[in-house]
Amino acid sequence: MTETAARKRIVIVGAGVAGSILAYGLKDVAGAEVICIERASPEDQSDAGTGLNVGPNAIKALHSFLPDLAASLVGQSLPWASWRISLTGGRELMNLPLLDVADNHGIRIRWSALYRLLRQPVRAHVRFATEVVAMRYARAGEAGPIVIETRHRQTGVTTLIDGIDLLIAGDGRYSAVRETFFARPEPRFLGVCIFRLLVEAARPGLIDDYEQWFNGPNRLLAFRVPGEATYIAGSFPIPADADVPDAAKTAAALRTLYTPADGTPSDQCAFMIDTICSHLDDIHWARLQECDIAFGDPNGRILLLGDAAHPMVPTLGQGATQAMEDACIAVAELRGALAGPAAGLAEAVWRIEERRRGRVEFVVNFSRDATDTMLAGADPVSGSLAKNGPGFRAKLARLYRDVPAA
Ligand SMILES: Cc1cc2nc3c(=O)[nH]c(=O)nc-3n(C[C@H](O)[C@H](O)[C@H](O)COP(=O)(O)OP(=O)(O)OC[C@H]3O[C@@H](n4cnc5c(N)ncnc54)[C@H](O)[C@@H]3O)c2cc1C
Repeated sequence: MTETAARKRIVIVGAGVAGSILAYGLKDVAGAEVICIERASPEDQSDAGTGLNVGPNAIKALHSFLPDLAASLVGQSLPWASWRISLTGGRELMNLPLLDVADNHGIRIRWSALYRLLRQPVRAHVRFATEVVAMRYARAGEAGPIVIETRHRQTGVTTLIDGIDLLIAGDGRYSAVRETFFARPEPRFLGVCIFRLLVEAARPGLIDDYEQWFNGPNRLLAFRVPGEATYIAGSFPIPADADVPDAAKTAAALRTLYTPADGTPSDQCAFMIDTICSHLDDIHWARLQECDIAFGDPNGRILLLGDAAHPMVPTLGQGATQAMEDACIAVAELRGALAGPAAGLAEAVWRIEERRRGRVEFVVNFSRDATDTMLAGADPVSGSLAKNGPGFRAKLARLYRDVPAA
């Protein structure tokens, strides 16, 4: 089967964070045919088993560019209003009301809820359970349209979509679009392992808004999400060139990592340690890594957004947050281009890169710098106390407030 285009054909690979928001912002634009290809089926939550905090900056950007979507996310989440850092024994090192450095709160939400809220309004434009298996410029060596081949994961039916004026990569950290049209990005590992867990139990009097706890460089992070559940993430240093050792994934090893030297964790940390140790099979493991930034191809036919463009370390909770900022700017620029008599999609791609690159570089670097207290040999006391200082606070204010507006 072959499909050809009449209007400007825009194909988005991946209905994740960036892809869904972009589809939402473009779906009713005259002159654009928007097709989104998503590997997961609508019911599939396999990638969505935990929770996340979305920074105030993304909420501010969404309120400005896509207010209906912002209202839906805020309405279905809990506010992220403060950031507290302590030692696992209980000593408090930082307690920051976010409104000291932001114009509005962030949100706390389950991944499954976020994907549902983002995908539901664009269902008609998404081909679920469909994977992009091949893609190329239609005429080799020419800056012309793109052609892709998709394959339905259940039926095996393959489809050729040609005449693509703009191919947008919202396919995440291991982007096939980026690998096909750009040099394969080399990951840089920071030597820190991170694991995530969502438990269907909440102790609001004990753990509610966003907090972190250190025992040496070993860090716990937790917050409550809607539906009476608690999101817990743990991290600890590992050799930068090694996988997470199996020996570190046991209850005994994890308990040791987060138990303070005097053997008495705070009530909060005792709850988290017990919870982690009794849910070992539910844990998702990952390593902190980042790659170089890339946005557009020289022909203005390919646009990378979100993790496909700038995989960053999750230390400041900015991965999905920046994917949202990307999508807001892309929606505005592409709407503008499609409204003109001769849609200048290539120029829009270049403008999106121009508007995003500096901001994203700042966020990637800030996220890496903020990882200082999680590296082998780090002193979390001096490092966390320093985060009370004017330098860190000014950067946080830039992160949360210095947001593009519509
Ligand atoms: C441990 C950890 C904790 C994190 N915590 C936070 C946090 O608290 N806050 C935050 O803002 N960020 C956080 N992040 C980062 C966040 O997960 C990502 O940055 C974000 O999901 C990127 O959004 P995206 O739209 O680029 O890609 P994704 O949301 O990953 O979406 C990519 C989509 O593309 C689809 N896809 C992939 N390949 C194909 C293909 N070939 N064909 C069709 N579809 C395809 C996938 O199924 C998926 O739906 C965290 C990351 C990690 C590792």
